[in-house]
Amino acid sequence: MWPIIGHQWAVELLTRSIEAERLSHAYLFSGPPQVGKTMLVRAFAQAIQCQDEDVPCGHCRSCLLIGQDKHPDVHVIVPENNRIKIEMIRDMQRSVALSPVEGRYRICLISRADLATPSASNALLKTLEEPPPKVILLLTADRAEALLSTIISRCQVLPLRLLPTEQIVTALCARGLSMEKAQLLGHLARGRVGWAIAASEDKQVLAGRNRVLEEVTQVAEGSHIARFAWAQKWSSRPEQIPHVLEIMGSWWRDVLLLASGSTSAIANIDHSSKLSEWASRYGVAEAQKALRGVQYTAWRIEHNANLRLALEVLMLDMPGGARTT
Ligand SMILES: [Zn+2]
Repeated sequence: MWPIIGHQWAVELLTRSIEAERLSHAYLFSGPPQVGKTMLVRAFAQAIQCQDEDVPCGHCRSCLLIGQDKHPDVHVIVPENNRIKIEMIRDMQRSVALSPVEGRYRICLISRADLATPSASNALLKTLEEPPPKVILLLTADRAEALLSTIISRCQVLPLRLLPTEQIVTALCARGLSMEKAQLLGHLARGRVGWAIAASEDKQVLAGRNRVLEEVTQVAEGSHIARFAWAQKWSSRPEQIPHVLEIMGSWWRDVLLLASGSTSAIANIDHSSKLSEWASRYGVAEAQKALRGVQYTAWRIEHNANLRLALEVLMLDMPGGARTT
């Protein structure tokens, strides 16, 4: 049993290639953030290295070590400061040049390969062009289009999609959550099963979302001074900005859905009455403008715009009863 929720087609495909002993040299797991790419990649690495017959067993030495990122034959690369640098790829190249210590293969997990610098990408391409024997590279990317096309063409690509809310809710209930909690997390996840699992295992995830949401709604109703203070505060925490904008976007998307009378499910179901209030207060045009502003800000920041300036512009354009004092 793979410890995976959804993405059954991918699990079946990977299982078949292990059983047939027809593994590719490289795989690329692409898809939106927190859709479950890392969980799937880790389970695949466990299935490849598992010492049991029924792979991945989840409890043999290999499975346990991979679960903790400590397997001697599994090299893990995660971005630092939103970048994968060439030194990290060179390190990996040195490690994959050696024969496996105890596993069947040397595996390298490269998380967010789309954040590799140009020189790191070119170095990675070299390994993909001439892969050493018994080496498998497992890449993940939120934005596959940011990768060199020559990297993509050398990988077997598995595009992962957002999961239906009901599938996430059912899976959370099966993990022992109450129906009420599972419904809330399932709706907030908006298809991102990785987020739902993290939130079900760590109370801080939901508490953090609640804090940010409270601020987001306060700031929309606050003065310009409060809005600039907000922009200043978050511009000093760049790593958290995507998360904050995601929550802000989900709020305005819900306001827009309700204002336009859409029957699609809203995400923030624990605030449905406040959302209805905002929907009648702001209407479709204002909600649309706010949502577009959030999405555009996220895009600008991703493309290296000045963080503080981008957030200040967002705050200036944000609808609401902002006062000048
Ligand atoms: Zn195992």
